[in-house]
Amino acid sequence: MATASRTISPVRGAGDLLLLTGPMFAGKSAALIAHAATEQQRRAGRDRDGGDHAVLVLKPAFDIRDGADVVSSRDGTRIAARPVSEWPVDATEYGVVVIDEVQFMVAPHYRGDIVADIRSAVAAGCQVVAAGLDTDYMRRPFEPVVRLAAHASRHVRLSACCHRCAAPAAWTAKLHETGCRLELGSGNLYEARCDQHWAAPDQMAPGLPTIADVAS
Ligand SMILES: [Zn+2]
Repeated sequence: MATASRTISPVRGAGDLLLLTGPMFAGKSAALIAHAATEQQRRAGRDRDGGDHAVLVLKPAFDIRDGADVVSSRDGTRIAARPVSEWPVDATEYGVVVIDEVQFMVAPHYRGDIVADIRSAVAAGCQVVAAGLDTDYMRRPFEPVVRLAAHASRHVRLSACCHRCAAPAAWTAKLHETGCRLELGSGNLYEARCDQHWAAPDQMAPGLPTIADVAS
């Protein structure tokens, strides 16, 4: 169940883009789910279809970690989602379009230009909320996310908690190199790191304790 405290206030207007970025473990999906759930509830009381056709939740089709048709967060919230590899033709029928893991909506996982698709939806009057990583594990920017930031009505950059010292963490670190930039994974492959503790995979200090190690 989404909690209101995690909700970010929707942008008002005919069509607009709210962009949520940050490293892994920053709560982007939780914020996205809370936003979608709030919009569904808000519109359910107003729309004749009960709100079911008011909010469209999209996710990359290749991301099936928690099921093909669901977006889930690490705090346990979930929401039904449509897996896509191209922009859905019926998107403009929805008042709100919510997109998770938008950095993955690039070739070969996505046909077309997600930035152009989102801009078209906004121009058509959709409220779009997109969440994604702004940088990869080498702190290289994800190109579509950088471009989206230039078009966002609001851009909220979330921080995580450094897995080594609990300080605010702006970066994703990969624990060992796999040679793949667009790679799914969780705590077994990635960690959130602060400036002090971020390192490239080939410079990871072995044996550095995590917060969990220290607490146990
Ligand atoms: Zn740290």
